[in-house]
Amino acid sequence: QAKSEGRGTYRFFEPAMDEQVQNRRALELDLRKALAAGEFELHYQPLVQTETGEISGVEALIRWRHPQRGLIPPNSFIPLAEEIGLIVPIGEWVIRQACMTASRWPDRLHIAVNISAAQFHHPGLAEVIVGALAASGLDARRLEIEITESVLLHDKNGTLAMLHRLRALGIRIAMDDFGTGYSSLTYLQCFPFDKIKIDRSFIRDIATDASSLNIVRAIAALANGMGMGTTAEGVETREQLDRIAAEGCTEVQGFLFSRPLPAAEIERKFLSTEAPAVLDRFAAA
Ligand code: C2E
Ligand code: MG
Ligand code: MG
Ligand code: MG
Repeated sequence: QAKSEGRGTYRFFEPAMDEQVQNRRALELDLRKALAAGEFELHYQPLVQTETGEISGVEALIRWRHPQRGLIPPNSFIPLAEEIGLIVPIGEWVIRQACMTASRWPDRLHIAVNISAAQFHHPGLAEVIVGALAASGLDARRLEIEITESVLLHDKNGTLAMLHRLRALGIRIAMDDFGTGYSSLTYLQCFPFDKIKIDRSFIRDIATDASSLNIVRAIAALANGMGMGTTAEGVETREQLDRIAAEGCTEVQGFLFSRPLPAAEIERKFLSTEAPAVLDRFAAA
């Protein structure tokens, strides 16, 4: 009793703790327990072939089902998880879960998994991936990893060796959010990417802003010339789709086709016998 009074008095004289700091501390404590409590889930967003409208894969996107706060999007906890080192065990869970889910799905579907820089550079990533493939029985050629430019910022030789090692297993490598970070054209020359994902910020304005259109055009031309595929992220409108298709982007992803959905929803909407095998671009728009 006296103790709690004392604490209260002390707090009265101390400047109020920044609400954001308190909130962050609470979140951190919860985050440390979330994995063991089974509070993470993966949602999956279709990746659509521009030419045919077929779904050729899905991107796995993590969500945190917090018992009090509800469904928390990754941008609200992944940076914190990276800061406190939790991204390694969380990322391992993501890889295992994604491989397990994809192994139940038709062979034509590949699965893309996001890998943070801290996770990429943590020793043991290759073993985790190999272990997840073995445990699920998923063919390595159906797994794609998405990394951002931040991965390439340090230990170039180690990064290159790792990318080659993963590729030798049959895993595909995608450069995520291209054009936002520390983009350098030499990266594209040095690193063996299979695909470049053009950041949503360029797609958003593609129908209204000439410079966004020019950037998309240049990236698509460059990637095609180097034998890499391109994915346009964040396609929301029919008009954006038409522009993107005209620029030769090979793959599209966005709310126009589908939001990220739980596995059961993906199965019901896109993989059940009643579902059309091919996404009807015209119906979707
Ligand atoms: P990202 O890898 O670039 O993923 C694409 C993000 O764009 C997803 O947000 C997706 O929901 C959103 N998106 C897709 N289409 C549209 C659209 O048409 N309009 C709009 N407004 N948004 C669209 P989400 O799921 O909130 O994920 C945000 C970021 O969090 C991801 O960006 C990725 O960097 C990170 N992330 C997600 N899951 C994981 C994970 O398992 N591990 C790691 N390390 N990072 C993850
Ligand atoms: Mg991604
Ligand atoms: Mg992205
Ligand atoms: Mg992005």
